[in-house]
Amino acid sequence: TTAPLTDLEIAQNIQLKPITEIARKLGLEPDEIEMYGKYKAKLPLSKIDKEKLKNGKLILVSAISPTPAGEGKTTVSIGLSEALNRLGKKTTVVLREPSLGPVFGIKGGATGGGFSQVLPMEDINLHFTGDFSAIEKAHNLLAALVDNNIQSRSNNLGIDPRTVRLKRVMDVNDRALRNIVIGLGGTGSGIPRESGFDIIAASEIMAIMCLTENLEDLKGRLGNIFIGYTFNKKPVFARDLNAEGAMATLLRDALKPNLVQTIEGNPAIIHLGPFANIAQGTNSVIATRMGMSLSDYTVTEAGFGFDLGAEKFLDIKCQSAGLKPKAVVLTTTIRALKYHGGAALNSLTIPNLEALKNGLPNLEKHLENALLYQIPPVIAINKFYTDSDEEIQLIIDFAKKMGVKVALSEGWAKGGEGALDLAARVIEIIEEDQSNFKPLYDWEQDVVSKIEMIAKNIYGAAKVVFAPKAQKDLKTILDLGLEGLPVCIAKTQKSLSDDPSLLGRPSGFTLNVREIEIAAGAGFLIPITGEMMRMPGLPPHPASENINIDLEGNISGLI
Ligand code: ADP
Ligand code: MG
Repeated sequence: TTAPLTDLEIAQNIQLKPITEIARKLGLEPDEIEMYGKYKAKLPLSKIDKEKLKNGKLILVSAISPTPAGEGKTTVSIGLSEALNRLGKKTTVVLREPSLGPVFGIKGGATGGGFSQVLPMEDINLHFTGDFSAIEKAHNLLAALVDNNIQSRSNNLGIDPRTVRLKRVMDVNDRALRNIVIGLGGTGSGIPRESGFDIIAASEIMAIMCLTENLEDLKGRLGNIFIGYTFNKKPVFARDLNAEGAMATLLRDALKPNLVQTIEGNPAIIHLGPFANIAQGTNSVIATRMGMSLSDYTVTEAGFGFDLGAEKFLDIKCQSAGLKPKAVVLTTTIRALKYHGGAALNSLTIPNLEALKNGLPNLEKHLENALLYQIPPVIAINKFYTDSDEEIQLIIDFAKKMGVKVALSEGWAKGGEGALDLAARVIEIIEEDQSNFKPLYDWEQDVVSKIEMIAKNIYGAAKVVFAPKAQKDLKTILDLGLEGLPVCIAKTQKSLSDDPSLLGRPSGFTLNVREIEIAAGAGFLIPITGEMMRMPGLPPHPASENINIDLEGNISGLI
């Protein structure tokens, strides 16, 4: 017996089609796309078709509360898209761009796995078309303008350096840069102040780019970035530094979504990627609209579990962009349910019906949550080779009892062929036309009741407590007239609650809001619960130790 192929080996064995051929499948001629080499292209915003968006069949792939490894949303999204294409539905999968941090850290890339991948995986996982770099430059330009203004005597807004929240960003996990002092070196080198670095995915500009509609709207949002206060307590925004024009100029190409291909030669659009715990966690509105404009079915993914990613997708992105998903695919793994049922992380490959049964309430809660939005869900059991038939049957029986559709998803092992049953269930839902999408809350509600709506209905909390800092922030939000913004709650993905150790379906708990950040440019407020990581660290043995390139330029060790 030989060792199974790695994701990279599977990817490298595929003969890629020229990207012009993929574009043709979407009805685009070679001169209508902007080529980035042979296998990548940017799509012009002029291809977004308002009429087509009205009846677009948008499918949202989410998941139960994940284990640290991820439960396979990207893999399921790609497999489902291949299967829909096999069944004659013109489908595009629309995904986020991977962040470099996890590529060199623990988790690895984000281009799917096994026989459900988007290609060329090396490019997509590394620099791709430079979108993240553009965001980094635009962000750091703004940061430099702020410190330059603080330094300048002739053109000084009077910014109090202690109130500046904007940090610098970069795309390498580097915990030593989380908290630093800048401006050391004497009068010519700035005013010393505390600052730090975040990972690019945590930049407000990433969140802005993912919600914006076009260049004009982008400039408005960039100008609205809240910087801090003057010594006279006046709020300062990026527009006060005349920053938005130069920033938008840097972001011009990054605003256009990227076209690549799946293993089976179907179109995939990959564009930008904000964090799912502190931002909205899904690809750009522009990319989703592009997918819907150019194909009949569009499959997209929202980060972490349904409570984090899908809630934000539905209440922020869909409300902001007028999108109405037709179906939710809830990615479920037997290993994660066993984990939620009390099994140890290192025992998840061993069949354990008891733990599985005890973990089902987690799945149940996420299903109920999808129904709160009045979107019909289908459970996709993402099959691992260690899953036993009895374990799979237990979930199928549970789905029957709940009256919810269920399908095995074997896209990882078999590509599109392994997801035909899932695709058939999704087509049924769409043809039955049962979706009646309704957001959970109205943006106009006051901030406290918006947070309580989510905490009680989606997380299952009994009450919400606001720490003194959060209460002060609530007052600031009122003073700035920003109470009409939606809330993007920053919470651990490990639990439905804000306590990572509460597994399964916790109830009766209190959600603790420590503080509320203002992302006035992105257009949301960020209530922070628990410790939020914006600059991850590397593990003792980072994935980078295995990554190499030979003299012919062949890459190995990417996961
Ligand atoms: P998510 O999008 O939910 O974070 P991914 O689709 O990126 O999850 O999958 C996480 C990891 O798990 C990837 O390395 C992927 O290759 C692997 N994986 C996903 N599904 C399976 C499966 N059915 N069997 C084995 N490995 C899988
Ligand atoms: Mg993913």
